[in-house]
Amino acid sequence: ARVGWMDRLKSGLKRTGGSITTVFTGTQIDEALYEDLEAALLMADSGVAATDYLLQDLKRRVKETRATQPAQVKALLQDAIADLLAPLERPLVVGVYHPTVIMVAGVNGAGKTTSIGKLTKHLADAGATVLLAAADTFRAAAREQLAVWANRNQVEIISQQGADPSAVSFDAVAAGRARDMDVVLVDTAGRLPTQKHLMEELTKIRRVVTKADVTAPHEVILVIDGNTGQNGLAQVKAFDDSAKLTGLVVTKLDGTAKGGVLCAIAREKPVPVYFIGVGEQLEDLQTFNAREFAQALVG
Ligand code: GDP
Repeated sequence: ARVGWMDRLKSGLKRTGGSITTVFTGTQIDEALYEDLEAALLMADSGVAATDYLLQDLKRRVKETRATQPAQVKALLQDAIADLLAPLERPLVVGVYHPTVIMVAGVNGAGKTTSIGKLTKHLADAGATVLLAAADTFRAAAREQLAVWANRNQVEIISQQGADPSAVSFDAVAAGRARDMDVVLVDTAGRLPTQKHLMEELTKIRRVVTKADVTAPHEVILVIDGNTGQNGLAQVKAFDDSAKLTGLVVTKLDGTAKGGVLCAIAREKPVPVYFIGVGEQLEDLQTFNAREFAQALVG
């Protein structure tokens, strides 16, 4: 049997020399413990703002509970992180709009295409009809890969080589309405926040989607690679500027030492985390649970 996803998340998040768990192996609660913890949180890419916040919050909890053992502090840290991350825990809701139009964006290699495949399965399993739109009209490989996922999930796909990405998106939303689909999932091309014209293209796709359906897009999801740590936070900020994000998928948390980035996001740019990716298989997409994540992170 495959190892459970929590275990993969745990071992993934532990892939750092400054693992947070080891901070609590001593016998005393002293300034050295807090210093080690600060280093470990920063190593995990929690960022300065969230690290400072967590340390203050933790010290307050230690005082309040009159904790005397490092093991108690560890449990309090899990509480502090769980509370910090709780606002990010929000389910992706489909069914209010018909169709629910979901745009998906990300930098190349973040795991966007894989996540769309997983998400399609998740939605189809829940009984929703899904129409995929290949708005990456430029890269043939991207369209082919999306077609593979569509095939695997037995859903329809709208794809037109070389067409304008916003035109394909418009057509897909119109087709989704005409065919009475539950969800239209728009796969946009991978792009970097530094590529100004491509970021503007994303803004344009969003605008044109609204022309096809005045209430759409209902969701704009950014896929970020959990391994990129603080860079992921920068991506959240940049893509939100261009396309107004409603949610995130954070991938590759089964093999990262930088899971602390979710703390940074919670503190500096809170956007709900709809799903986390914990592997390459179709079923390796989990809904985000703040407490479970905090437990896996602290170990
Ligand atoms: P895209 O360029 O953003 O569309 O990225 P892809 O979906 O092609 O994914 C890039 C690589 O990351 C592929 O090898 C995927 O199998 C892998 N990948 C995606 N999500 C995960 C995940 O959650 N865990 C792991 N371990 N690998 C992943």
